[in-house]
Amino acid sequence: MASQRPVLIAGAGPVGVIAALALARQGIPVQVFEAEPRINDNPRAATTHAATLEILDNLGLVDEVIRRGLVEPKFRTWNREPRQLIVEFDFSVLKDDTRFPYVVQCEQHKLAAMTIERLRQFPHASVAFNARVTGFSQFEDRVEVDIATAAGTRTVTGSWLIGCDGGRSTVRKALDIEFEGYTHPERFLVLSTTFSFDTIYGECSRNYFADANEWCALFKVTGDDGKGLWRVLFPTRSGETDAQALDETAVQQRLQNFFPKAGAYPVFHRNIYNVHQRVAATFHKGRAFLAGDSAHVNNPLGGLGLNFGIHDAVELADLVGKVMRGEAQDETLDSYDRRRRPLNVEYVQQQTIANKKRLEEKDPAVRDRNNAALQAIAADPVAHRAYLLRASLIDAVRKAKTT
Ligand SMILES: Cc1cc2nc3c(=O)[nH]c(=O)nc-3n(C[C@H](O)[C@H](O)[C@H](O)COP(=O)(O)OP(=O)(O)OC[C@H]3O[C@@H](n4cnc5c(N)ncnc54)[C@H](O)[C@@H]3O)c2cc1C
Repeated sequence: MASQRPVLIAGAGPVGVIAALALARQGIPVQVFEAEPRINDNPRAATTHAATLEILDNLGLVDEVIRRGLVEPKFRTWNREPRQLIVEFDFSVLKDDTRFPYVVQCEQHKLAAMTIERLRQFPHASVAFNARVTGFSQFEDRVEVDIATAAGTRTVTGSWLIGCDGGRSTVRKALDIEFEGYTHPERFLVLSTTFSFDTIYGECSRNYFADANEWCALFKVTGDDGKGLWRVLFPTRSGETDAQALDETAVQQRLQNFFPKAGAYPVFHRNIYNVHQRVAATFHKGRAFLAGDSAHVNNPLGGLGLNFGIHDAVELADLVGKVMRGEAQDETLDSYDRRRRPLNVEYVQQQTIANKKRLEEKDPAVRDRNNAALQAIAADPVAHRAYLLRASLIDAVRKAKTT
């Protein structure tokens, strides 16, 4: 295997490095190229679902993820104004379905860093920073990828190329693959504060607040020092610019409107994100593949995008491994797109769109109906379990095995 051409990966985000680890553990040579000088540590994914924890367990990462993260079996949906708990879901009901009946809140940059650390154990794996993939050519037996570095551009030859280079993927654009879907008109503002909501929301670190004017979401993560940070996520308002949303006075007002308290909120991070619901027209063309955000993007309500991207990474690594060992023909790789694309639409796009719609619903009658439906699901043990099998992507993994 070591004498074979390496698999080349664009992007050392969590999906790229997990794909690399899943390949390296099979003895397959792999080289990752990351455009930036370091791992991006902006506050993005933290929620890691049961189905993904099982994958991380198989990769030998789950203990560290649990140690550095926060185990949370529940999530709650509230009415924001007046503040009322609508419903609580509890992943403990999945105790017979998974070894991990909870989510772990572990920031994605920690996952990427610990994965790169593991990759160092494999002499046939490498991760290069300040190395941007700018283009590539495909041949019958190889790919030639152009890498721009501070020392100039060089060309690297590999067996396959996996584009894990995020929503603006150079690989996807070079393959001329349509990114079908739409962009939400509002952006999402994420504020991280060292103010502790523990006394009010400490019983549950994942909370959604439905509101006709301004829904929001409140999550706890451990932070780099392990002491805990709360993240509050709001949509921007109609006509509001990024600068207006990020302005200190506006930020303080938003937080005080959400939860009034004496004195200013200590705001540790403030970030704004464009939000899309898009899926690439295909995840595979010739010797090149797309995985993670390069293949699909969605709003973060439900915490599904990265989870699904990690599932892409391990499934693709498994297929590539079989082909490289001669256990399967190249055509087997077509099943990657055939399986992953519809699964993303069914389990990620549909759920995240529905989650957002429910939170922002303006019609009181529809809102009441939605709330009653959620309460009925939570009150019925069979429906509760079914709802969480879907929310945790366990259903998506089970379906993948049968298609
Ligand atoms: C506010 C927010 C909260 C979220 N919460 C969750 C959550 O709780 N759970 C969840 O599952 N998902 C969540 N997501 C989604 C999650 O962040 C993404 O799905 C995840 O980052 C995708 O990982 P990736 O590795 O595919 O892409 P990225 O993390 O975007 O990594 C891509 C990497 O490729 C590099 N790159 C780009 N172009 C090139 C190039 N040409 N050459 C080389 N390198 C390149 C980039 O620098 C980057 O390091 C959230 C997103 C947001 C915005």
